[in-house]
Amino acid sequence: MATPLPSWTQSTKVGLRKLSLVDYPGKLAAVIFFRGCNFRCPWCHNPELVLLSQENEEEWIRLEEALAILEARQNRVPAVVMTGGEPTLFPHLPELVMLLKEQGFFVKLDTNGSRPEVLKKLLSAPLDTRPDYVAVDLKIGLSRYQEVRPLPTRSEGATKTTSPEDIPFFLRESCEMVQASGIAHEFRTVILPEGFTTEGDIEELAPLVGNSPWYFTPFRGGHCLDPHWEGTADTTSEQVQKLANLAQSLGKDVRLRGLGG
Ligand code: SF4
Repeated sequence: MATPLPSWTQSTKVGLRKLSLVDYPGKLAAVIFFRGCNFRCPWCHNPELVLLSQENEEEWIRLEEALAILEARQNRVPAVVMTGGEPTLFPHLPELVMLLKEQGFFVKLDTNGSRPEVLKKLLSAPLDTRPDYVAVDLKIGLSRYQEVRPLPTRSEGATKTTSPEDIPFFLRESCEMVQASGIAHEFRTVILPEGFTTEGDIEELAPLVGNSPWYFTPFRGGHCLDPHWEGTADTTSEQVQKLANLAQSLGKDVRLRGLGG
């Protein structure tokens, strides 16, 4: 990068996947992983990211190094995905998006939608410094959001801590903002197995997505934040299809992802 990088790029450590074929629709992308999350979804497959584990510390690199790698590969990998954890907790996210946009990258943000004040900052930035794509995760019916165990969070400069009870309100606000932004976007729901994601959840979430693309993905068993979820079976394609049919009957633009075949 021609201009010196800000000091926070040296003090921040991130994970970097140099190439992904699936994280940015239609583009080859690198993925930056931010540590920390304000949710504790029991079924989360990234506990070391969420819990700020010091394990495998050598796999984390300074953001400055990550940016140098991205720049060297930009001709072949033109897009960058910010994910986590929850990237909106990173206090310099708006500056980072701006920096990447100035470098000519396509930028996508993955978020759990709990921090509309950060989204507002990103989406109201000058057009050429906004993210190009935003994906918002909808975890479970709004009335069940306590099950993702949201933590109290405080924004930079704010005097009031966000209460976990406010999450459905913030989620609604984020969804409305993303839809009104004119930026390419999608909503995503991992369909949890054995009827854990219910028809009631889908009915509660449906009003939030409007006419936007809503991707359903099956849960896959494996390493989870809550060990009770470790032995849980994959969601079957029938379970996904059943809830997709319901969402379609509600007029939603449902798309399936990760079902194979
Ligand atoms: S699945 Fe839940 S806990 Fe894990 S990173 Fe996403 S929002 Fe955070």
